[in-house]
Amino acid sequence: MLKYETHLHTSPVSKCAKASVRESLEFYKKAGYAGVFITNHFIDGNGDNSKTYEEQIRYYFSDYEEGKSLEKEIGIRVFSGVEMTYKGTDFLVYGPDKAWYLLHPEIMDMLQHEKLRFLMEQGALVIQAHPFREASFIKYFRLFPYFVQGVEIINASNKELANQMAKQYAEGYNLIPFAGSDNHRAGEQKMLAGMESEAEVLSERDFVQKVLNGEMRVFCQENIW
Ligand SMILES: [Zn+2]
Ligand SMILES: [Zn+2]
Repeated sequence: MLKYETHLHTSPVSKCAKASVRESLEFYKKAGYAGVFITNHFIDGNGDNSKTYEEQIRYYFSDYEEGKSLEKEIGIRVFSGVEMTYKGTDFLVYGPDKAWYLLHPEIMDMLQHEKLRFLMEQGALVIQAHPFREASFIKYFRLFPYFVQGVEIINASNKELANQMAKQYAEGYNLIPFAGSDNHRAGEQKMLAGMESEAEVLSERDFVQKVLNGEMRVFCQENIW
């Protein structure tokens, strides 16, 4: 089985991340992964309002581009993704690339459910990240069962109850089960989760198709590396 990290934060683009792009890629290579999706916090929660949308998008993709330039040297595939936020309710978005985001500044002005629907219409895979996560700044849970394709039922940085609730939610609403580590610290991460498949993931678009076709499965393991 080929393993893919689907939920990874890197420094400096994610301000809360502790590990650099290189440290993160070297760790996942050591752990035997075939690839990673760099899903930093998007400009809606992690941006710089003194900069234009275009400047923020260019900066946003700079960690992914650094990762892409290290692909051959380190020997691991690097893909892009995005973690968007709506008042602490988070969504992982796969498929659209930097060029797409540069063309679509209007997403910043859409209502949340309209934005999610638009992204899916544009070919994106939209996953609600850790829907039952507990944190001091989260006052209540917001669920969007009709505006996402899947749910992160295993978030390796979440508590057990939050993952159990997410699994029940995904089953009840027939949403695709998805998993990721939400790793902010490369090899210091205790538990690892992600998606695995028999066949190699060739691109972001290929990943979207494989997940939608049910060709990828969730996994979770302790970090023994
Ligand atoms: Zn973070
Ligand atoms: Zn995250």
